Amino acid sequence: MTDTIQVKLSNRSCAAGLEYARRQSAGPAKDAILCCEGMCLKGETARRAANLLGHRLAPEKTVRICHGGLLEKSGGMRDLMQRANRVLILDGCGMACCTRLTKAAFPELQPEVVFTDKMTSYDGNPFGIDEVPEAEITANAQNVAAALADKYYGCCQ
Ligand code: SF4
Repeated sequence: MTDTIQVKLSNRSCAAGLEYARRQSAGPAKDAILCCEGMCLKGETARRAANLLGHRLAPEKTVRICHGGLLEKSGGMRDLMQRANRVLILDGCGMACCTRLTKAAFPELQPEVVFTDKMTSYDGNPFGIDEVPEAEITANAQNVAAALADKYYGCCQ
C-alpha cells in the first residue's frame, strides 16, 4: 500500500481564476486564504467561512486561493501564494486535506492552520449538509468567519 501519491501539474487553468489572480496581483500583497474541499458538513462550513472571510469580511487584507489552482504548472493561484504575506488554511477537520495538499505543492511553506470543526456547534455527528438546517450551517460559517476576521484582522463587520 502506497503512502504517497503523485499529481501531474496541469497546463490548463480556469479563465475566471486567472482574471481574479491578475486583478489581485496588481495590488498589494495579502494573506492567502485556503480551505478544504467541503464535501461534508465540516468541510462545507470551512469553505463557506473561508469565502466569507476572503470575499466579504477582510477582502482588503486577504485573497482566496483555489487549492486546485496549486496543481497548475504556473499562473494565477501559485503566483498569489508566492507573494502572500501569510497563508491561512481553514481545514474542516483533523484530516487536514487542504494542509496536506498545500504542503505537497509548497513543501517549505509554514501555513497557519485552523481546524474549523473546533469552532462550530452541531449536535451529534452529522455528515452531510442535508442533516442540519441550512440556517444552522450559515450561522456556524458566519461565526467562524467573524472570529477569524477579528483574530487576524481586527475586523468583524
Ligand atoms: S479536512 Fe476534513 S472536512 Fe475538510 S475535506 Fe478533508 S475530511 Fe472533509
